[in-house]
Amino acid sequence: METPFLKVEIPTTFNDHPGVFSALLYTKIHQCNLNCYQCHNRHAFRGKEEFFKEEELREKLQMLKLLGVELIIVSGGEPTLEERLEEGLKLIKEEGFPVRVDTNGTLPERVEKLAENGLIDGVALDVKIPLLDEYTPDQLERFRRILFSNKSLDPSAVYNYSKRVKITIEVIKRYSLPYTILRTVKYPLLKEEEIALIRECLKSLPHQVNPFYPVEEE
Ligand code: SF4
Repeated sequence: METPFLKVEIPTTFNDHPGVFSALLYTKIHQCNLNCYQCHNRHAFRGKEEFFKEEELREKLQMLKLLGVELIIVSGGEPTLEERLEEGLKLIKEEGFPVRVDTNGTLPERVEKLAENGLIDGVALDVKIPLLDEYTPDQLERFRRILFSNKSLDPSAVYNYSKRVKITIEVIKRYSLPYTILRTVKYPLLKEEEIALIRECLKSLPHQVNPFYPVEEE
């Protein structure tokens, strides 16, 4: 049976979840409901998407266990859009790993269900803009570029993003899962005071601000 995870080299890292030896699996890279400014994952993966078969993935996970990997991180794309995500998470858990799912936070119902069913041990939520009830026209233009690479989209898309991410944060707070981290990229389109605003509003949760690296065009 095919898993929802891309058949690619599985990277390991100490940096993605700080201090925790982790390995990364990816759901479909091009399956995402945002189109962020210079999305790295989309640029990194080209060509045909193939998926691990169940037995292949179990073998890989057992190897990772022997290497001392402590956490499996599921990234994408947007993993919560993957219909077969639950099956994939169950398989990882059966192999004895805690799992963190990376999400853009726009599907709070899905995150809640995963937490409720004990299929995740944390999430990495990217908070890309300040989550406000009102935005200035200048902010709406810049934030549409950050979230959708499109400054002329209907402004309601930004308000909707903000509303849904706020609900996801409430879900995260309710479940207090151990491998949870909120992250903000210092997009050049964000002002310093806006980053400070995001920090202020997320200060009760583990949060890190990451530098922005432009994608390398071939
Ligand atoms: S949410 Fe993540 S995967 Fe989706 S476009 Fe933005 S950076 Fe890329």
